[in-house]
Amino acid sequence: MPKLDQHKTWDVVVAGGGPAGFFAAIRCAELNPDLKVLILEKASQTLGKVLISGGGRCNVTHACFEPAQLITYYPRGANALRGAFTRFQPKDTIEWFESRSVKLKTEADGRMFPITDSSATIAECLRESARKAGVEVQLGANLLKVEKSQRGGFRLEVRHEAKLFIIETAKILLATGSDSNTRTIVKALGHSIAEPVPSLFTFNVNDKRIAGLAGVAVENVTLKMGALTQHGPMLITHWGLSGPAVLRLSAWGARELHEMKYRSALTVNWLGDYSMDSALEVLQRSKDWHENARKKISSQPAFSQIPLRLWKQLTYFLGDKNWGDISKVELRKLATELTAGEFKIEGKGQFKEEFVTCGGVHLNEVDFKTMQSRMVADLFFAGEVLDIDGITGGFNFQSSWTTGWLAGNALAGST
Ligand SMILES: Cc1cc2nc3c(=O)[nH]c(=O)nc-3n(C[C@H](O)[C@H](O)[C@H](O)COP(=O)(O)OP(=O)(O)OC[C@H]3O[C@@H](n4cnc5c(N)ncnc54)[C@H](O)[C@@H]3O)c2cc1C
Repeated sequence: MPKLDQHKTWDVVVAGGGPAGFFAAIRCAELNPDLKVLILEKASQTLGKVLISGGGRCNVTHACFEPAQLITYYPRGANALRGAFTRFQPKDTIEWFESRSVKLKTEADGRMFPITDSSATIAECLRESARKAGVEVQLGANLLKVEKSQRGGFRLEVRHEAKLFIIETAKILLATGSDSNTRTIVKALGHSIAEPVPSLFTFNVNDKRIAGLAGVAVENVTLKMGALTQHGPMLITHWGLSGPAVLRLSAWGARELHEMKYRSALTVNWLGDYSMDSALEVLQRSKDWHENARKKISSQPAFSQIPLRLWKQLTYFLGDKNWGDISKVELRKLATELTAGEFKIEGKGQFKEEFVTCGGVHLNEVDFKTMQSRMVADLFFAGEVLDIDGITGGFNFQSSWTTGWLAGNALAGST
C-alpha cells in the first residue's frame, strides 16, 4: 500500500474508491497514462458497496438500451442523464466488462449480473484494471477539506493513520457517495445540496389482513399513495410489504414519505388492473355460479392471482359464509377490499439487496458532458454524491458507471 506522499503533486485525485471513483480513475489513466492519478479511500478496503450489492451478486446494470426509456427509471436525475446515456449506457457497460473478460447475464426482469453470480468478480475486475492503468489507491485516507490552492489546482487535507496530511492536485473528483462529511466540503466550495433522505425501502405495515403471511407474493398489484401510483409484484414480509411495486413507490415517494415521518395511507389493489366495477362483475358471477352456492367464500377464491391464504384473510369480515349467502352490500364491500384496500404505512424497513440515498449536489451546478462543476474549475463530481438515484434493478450502478466514465474523459483532458 503506498503511503501518502505530501511532496508529490498529483494530476488527479479521486476522493472515494467506489464504482464511480474507480470508473473515472481507470478511464482517465487509460486515456492519459502520463497522468498521476490517486484514489483516496477512507475505509480499509475499496468498493465496499459493490461487494455487498445485489445480495452479494452485484446487479451491475439493466438490459435497457434506449436512453429515453432508461431515464424513466430515475426518480431524480432523469433529465441530466438523458444526454449522458447517449454517451455511455448499459450496452457500453456490458462491453467494458466483457473487454476485461467479465461476462454479464440478463435475468428475466432485465437485471444484469456477472455470470459468476459473485460481486467479487466485479470488484476484482475494477481493482485489477486500476492497477494495470497505474492508478494509485490509498486506503484509510479520509478527505476532510478541499481548498483552491494559490498555485492553481487544489490543496487537500487528508486524515490518514491519525495524522493530518496536506496534498496538492491539479484536478479533483468527488465520488464519495452519500458520505455526510463531503456535504460540508461541497458546500464550502460554493455548491448547494438537495438534503439527503433514504430511497428504496420496504414499508412497515401492521395489519391483521397480512399478519402471518410472510413470503406470500402477488404478481401484479396497484399501489396508490397520495398522487403516486405503482404497479407490479408485491411481497408480504414479517414487518409489512416489500417487492418491486413497494420499492418503486418508496423511491418516487422518498421525499414525501420522509416529510411524513414514514407514516402514510396506502391503497392496495390486489387485482392490479381491475376496477371496482369489473371486480364486482367477477364476484357476482362467482355468487351466481350454482356449484359455488354452498361453498365457503373463504376457501373458494374468485381470482386466481390471489393466493388462498391471502384470500382467506381479505375475506375475514364475511366469516364462514357461503357464496350463495352473500348480500349485494357484502359483495360490494369485498370488491372494495380487493381493489382499494386501505392500509397504513407506519415506518420504513430495509431492503437488504439495494439501498440508495436521494439528494446530493444540485444537478444544475454540474456540466453533464464533463461532470465538471459549473462553479469551480477542475472540480468534478460522479456517482451518488450527485442528486441522482434510480429504482432497484441495476440503475444506480449504471449512473455511477456513466458519470464516472464521463468524468474520466474530462479529467484526462479528452473533452
Ligand atoms: C446493500 C446495498 C446493495 C446495493 N445493491 C445494488 C445493486 O445491486 N445494483 C445497483 O445498481 N445499486 C446497488 N446499490 C446502490 C449502489 O451501491 C450505489 O448507488 C453505488 O455504490 C454508488 O456508487 P458511488 O461510487 O457513487 O458511491 P459509493 O459506492 O458509496 O462509494 C463511495 C466511496 O467513497 C468513500 N468515501 C466517502 N467519503 C470519503 C472521504 N471523505 N474520503 C475518502 N473516501 C471517502 C466511501 O468509503 C466509499 O468507498 C446497493 C447499495 C447498497 C447499500
